Amino acid sequence: MPDANNTAANAPGQGGASDALLRLIADSVPALMAYFDVPQLRCRFANQGYAAYNGHSTDSILGLTVQEAIGDKAWAAIEPHVERSMQGEHVKYTREQTLPNGEARMIEVNLIPHFDGNAHQQGSFVLITDITERWRAERTVRQSEERMRKFTEATEEAIVFHRDGIITDGNEALTRLTGYALAEVSGLSIFNFISPEWRTVALDYTRSGREDPYEVTIRHKDGHAIPVEVVGKTMPLHHADYRIVVVRDITARKQAQEREAFIALHDPLTQLPNRHFLMEQLSQVLSLARRRHGRVAVLFVNLDHFKTVNDSLGHHAGDQLLCNVAERLRQGVRDADVVARLGGDEFVVVLTDVQGQDDAARVADKLLASMHGALTVDQLPLTISPSIGISLFPEHAATSDALLRCADAAMHHAKDSGRGNRQFYAPGMDAGGIDVLRHERQLRDAIQTNAFVLHYQPQMCLADGSLKGLEALVRWQHPERGLVGPDEFITFSESRGLITPIGRWVMREACRQLKTWQDQGLAMVPVAVNLSALEFRQRDVAGEIAAVLRDTGLAPEFLEIELTESVLMHQTGDVLNTLNAIKSLGVGISIDDFGTGYSSLAYLKRYPIDKLKIDRSFVVDTPGSADDVAIVTAIVQMGRSLQIMTVAEGVETPAQVDFLAGLGCDMIQGRVVSMPMDIPDAQRWLLEFKP
Ligand code: C2E
Ligand code: MG
Ligand code: MG
Repeated sequence: MPDANNTAANAPGQGGASDALLRLIADSVPALMAYFDVPQLRCRFANQGYAAYNGHSTDSILGLTVQEAIGDKAWAAIEPHVERSMQGEHVKYTREQTLPNGEARMIEVNLIPHFDGNAHQQGSFVLITDITERWRAERTVRQSEERMRKFTEATEEAIVFHRDGIITDGNEALTRLTGYALAEVSGLSIFNFISPEWRTVALDYTRSGREDPYEVTIRHKDGHAIPVEVVGKTMPLHHADYRIVVVRDITARKQAQEREAFIALHDPLTQLPNRHFLMEQLSQVLSLARRRHGRVAVLFVNLDHFKTVNDSLGHHAGDQLLCNVAERLRQGVRDADVVARLGGDEFVVVLTDVQGQDDAARVADKLLASMHGALTVDQLPLTISPSIGISLFPEHAATSDALLRCADAAMHHAKDSGRGNRQFYAPGMDAGGIDVLRHERQLRDAIQTNAFVLHYQPQMCLADGSLKGLEALVRWQHPERGLVGPDEFITFSESRGLITPIGRWVMREACRQLKTWQDQGLAMVPVAVNLSALEFRQRDVAGEIAAVLRDTGLAPEFLEIELTESVLMHQTGDVLNTLNAIKSLGVGISIDDFGTGYSSLAYLKRYPIDKLKIDRSFVVDTPGSADDVAIVTAIVQMGRSLQIMTVAEGVETPAQVDFLAGLGCDMIQGRVVSMPMDIPDAQRWLLEFKP
């Protein structure tokens, strides 16, 4: 304790009462305190703790130098600090000390310089506090943080620590996941990185301290969204809002889920929406249209002759063709429109916003045009023609189902009216479809009562304009609907097992009629009779033909049969025998609708074929369409090299006649000569016809 003579006014411990109070306080604080004068560094005051710690009493330590008070070894350790303190610096350091019982303690030493009123340093206070507990606690935290860091780095899962939402730490995986370095994000709110629509969810979880996993979407530094699963844990050692959050990238899982959902709603081949999804979308489109008083068009698209592609080129080619069609449909409409595949060769297009009938017609025409021309499948050029039926909301129907039914019925009408075209729904169209049984009963009645008639269409020689043949085409005299074309009942009667009686009647009637005309000196040309593939397969055609010729007295060279390509492609062995048998009767054989079968042309050489009839669909756009010109040219060339006559079907314009004549096509059939005629008209025509 400094005495009155050599200490300035403010040195500790002067005066009786205050001296006693100071000592009382100094001995009560949990710290070691002492005061040494400068420059001798003699002890002027020490509390009990300090004196005892250094092995002295509060009295015996007075007057000792620091070195004497604390011993040489300790002096050596602290001397540099003391030097600095004597320069007037407040020095603070920590030091580990081992107690005599071997216990390690951590102390914090403060050396605080003491100046008089003239800024002369009088001495230094020494204040030593035992910070072992705090130090141990900090060490534990440091160690547990170290451990935590090791864990967090050892996992692939991103881990982020935050306190009240403010990011304090994160692992390497977090950087990998988000693209942000830790330094860029620490101190920022964790909610900044969560996509706005998910923030409320994340806030709720954090605020309520929930610890079950939940899913949100976060933003990568480059802006892309990452779906993640998040589990937050509130750290028990710390404040309740101190959270450790494990963030797991679930992009792969989400993609798998999306893929699954996609598969359930889409056609695996074309990736278009399937029927289920279509109906869902259509009803949404309709409810929107109802609210906005809008109009919707439903287009039912069916490919003509698709089955033939599948049968002759195989399913692989069929699949490619369907994908091709899907693509063209998709490209032909706006993004907001729906293109779906119902299955097989059935597609549906929903035009979500049309002004009216004209709009829908324009789109349908565009789609038809987009599919016109050759598609390439397996390096083979194929042609397809779709038939499109159209129904309109709200004109034709109010519900998805009904609209689809109407469009379907209209599509069948499109097929009946020559394929490759579009038809709008009209009331009554679906009656036939709905009442199949009635249709069948009426057809059976027609067979009973012979309610069929044949119309005849001339075939003309291109070189000299002479008549070369007459094709017999059947019609049904329907009790309610008048004359019904073969497209409406031939396929149907095949499916009901009714084709045989119809076919037999046609053959006999055609031969009888031609014989009658010949007896009158008219039509010294063959009559061509169409045979469906089914008839050809099921009946002894050659035997029956022989019988008909015998019964009617028609010479065999005045009969031709027309077969479609599919007949030739299937039953090779039998077909060849049957064709040879027909041929040996002296009857001619034509291949009808040639080009639509996409078949290998090899069979043409194998079979005794007289004529190829080039399908109307290839002729209709000549000479304008380069594709079709190429196809027709190729068929005519091939016919010539195989010595098979070529007949162009459906020739309607003089330009087509010129084009075909220029190619050296042998014959034409079509409106430009005459459409099919009933018997009186045909008779008149034959009488008047002058080559
Ligand atoms: P097909 O044998 O190819 O007959 C030609 C079809 O094209 C006929 O249709 C004919 O009216 C039509 N046509 C001819 N020239 C033109 C033209 O310039 N422009 C247009 N737009 N069309 C033309 P139809 O009579 O409706 O016959 C359709 C199909 O029904 C026939 O095609 C044939 O495959 C089948 N068919 C007709 N009669 C019979 C039959 O007695 N038995 C069998 N199994 N099938 C038949
Ligand atoms: Mg024909
Ligand atoms: Mg034809």
